[in-house]
Amino acid sequence: MLDEHEHSLRGVESPAHDPNLCGPEGAVFTHDPLKLAVKNHPLAAGTKVHLLTFGCQMNKYDSAMVAGLLGERGAAFVENPEEAGLLIMNTCSVRGHAEDRVYNRLHVLKERKRREPGFTLAVMGCMAQKEGEQIAKKFPWVDLIVGTRMLDEFPRLLERVREGARTPLLAIDEKPDVKFGETVARRENKHMAYLTVIRGCNKRCTYCVVPYTRGPEVSRPIAEIVSEAQRLVDDGVVEIMLLGQTIDTYGYDLGGDTTLWKLMRELHAMEGLKRIRFITSHPEECREELFSTMHELRDKVMPFIHMPPQSGSDRMLKRMARGYKRERYLDVVRAARQRCPEIEFCGDWIVGFSGETDADVEASLSLMAEVEFQFSFVFKYSVREGTPAQNLDDDIPEEAKKARHARLSELQEQISLKKNRARIGGIEEVLVDGPSKHDEKRLTGRTRSYRLIHFSGGQELIGKIVHVKVTAATPLSLTGERV
Ligand code: SAM
Ligand code: SF4
Repeated sequence: MLDEHEHSLRGVESPAHDPNLCGPEGAVFTHDPLKLAVKNHPLAAGTKVHLLTFGCQMNKYDSAMVAGLLGERGAAFVENPEEAGLLIMNTCSVRGHAEDRVYNRLHVLKERKRREPGFTLAVMGCMAQKEGEQIAKKFPWVDLIVGTRMLDEFPRLLERVREGARTPLLAIDEKPDVKFGETVARRENKHMAYLTVIRGCNKRCTYCVVPYTRGPEVSRPIAEIVSEAQRLVDDGVVEIMLLGQTIDTYGYDLGGDTTLWKLMRELHAMEGLKRIRFITSHPEECREELFSTMHELRDKVMPFIHMPPQSGSDRMLKRMARGYKRERYLDVVRAARQRCPEIEFCGDWIVGFSGETDADVEASLSLMAEVEFQFSFVFKYSVREGTPAQNLDDDIPEEAKKARHARLSELQEQISLKKNRARIGGIEEVLVDGPSKHDEKRLTGRTRSYRLIHFSGGQELIGKIVHVKVTAATPLSLTGERV
C-alpha cells in the first residue's frame, strides 16, 4: 500500500511517513453475536477523542470507519491529544520501526494514566492483533486492545470498559469479517475517501506479516461496496480509492463472476463519482482485462497502478516467495502499456533482504530503469516475528542496507525528475485537494496519474476538477497555472 498520501481528519492523526479473546492479566471478552447491536450502547455525547493512525491506507480506512462509528455516538474529535479523554492508536506491524514508535508512546502514556485516571487508552489494528497479549502484559495501563477483525465492535467494547470491565480488555477474535454497517467514513478531506473492498491476504511472501495480522482474504459483495460508495458520494466524495492487499484477487472467494473490473463498471455508473483509483496490484495476479477496463473507463478510472516488484532479481524473488519472475513483471508492464497507454507505475522495493548480493541490487536498479516507475517506495528489510523469513539470516549489515536504499532512491529520483520534466508544457486534469502545505495562498491537487501539483487558485476550487498547464517540475511534484 502507498504510505505517502495522507488525509487525516481533525483529531485523527497520521504521523508522517512512514490476528481469541482473553487477556492474560486482563478481562476476558467473549464474542457474542447476539450482542452486536452496538447502537444500543451510545457513547457519552461529547467524549473527546484523538485517533492516531500508523501505516497504510487500509489503516487509514479503518480509522475513518471507527471514527465514523464513534462520531455517530456523539464523540467529538480533538486535534490535541492532551485534550482527549480517549486516545486511540491504530497500529502497523509491517516494519519494526512502526512498532517501536507505538511502544515508545505507550511507555510515555503511563504517567498520564497515573495522573488522569479517567483517561482511556486504546490500541487497535495490526499490532493489537499480533501482539495483543504481550501489550496487555507489558502495558497494563492500556484499557482496550482491539484486533483487525473486531474493529466494527469498537463502540461496544469501549462501553464495556466504561461499565467497569477488567482492563486491559483484549478483543482479538478472528471472526471472519468486519461489518461497519451504514457508517460513513469520517474524513478530513471531504471529497476523497478510501474504501476497502477485500480484507486480508492469501499470499505468503516470506518477509511479510500481513497474512498473520489481517487473516485470509475476504471480499465484500459488490452491492455492499456500491452502497458504501453511494453514501460517500452523498456525503461529498468525488474520488474513491479502492483498497486491497492484492486487489486483483477481489471476488475470487465470492465465486461467480465477481471481479475487480466488474466492480469498476458498477462504480463507474455512479453519478457524482468522478474518479476511481485502486491499490495494491500483484504482478502474478494482474489480468489484461483490468488494463482494458481501465482504458475503456478512463474518464473515471485513473491511469495509475501501484504494483510492487520488491526486487528485480529472480533469485531474491524466489527467496521472497513472490510467485513471479522479473520477466513476468515486465510482461505485465508491456501488456498494461499496450492496453492502457496513459498508465503510470508505482513500485515498492525491499533492499537488504536475507542473502541479497550486489548483483541482486543491480538487478533491482536495472528493473527500475527499464520500467521507468513514476515513483517508488524503497524499504530496508526488517525481520518480522512469525514470518517464514525469520528463519533466514538477516545477514545484510545496516550500513549496507542504508547504502542500497540510497542507491535505489537516487535512481528513482532521477527517473521521476525526467518523467515530470517531460510533462512541462502539457495540460493536466487535476482534482484540487486543498491549500498547499508550503504556501497557503496556493493549492495542491493530484493529476490523473497521481502526481502532486501546485498552482494558484481560490479555496472555492477545493474538491473540483480543474485544468492546469505545467510550468515546472521537481522529482516529487509539478507546478503550473490554471487554464
Ligand atoms: N500487498 C502489497 C504487495 O504485495 O505488494 C504490500 C503490502 S505491505 C503493507 C507494503 C510494503 O511494505 C510492501 O510492498 C513491502 O515493500 C514492504 N514490506 C513488507 N514487509 C516488509 C519487511 N518485513 N521489511 C521491509 N519492508 C517490508
Ligand atoms: Fe504481504 Fe505478500 Fe500479501 Fe503483499 S502479497 S500483503 S507483501 S504477503
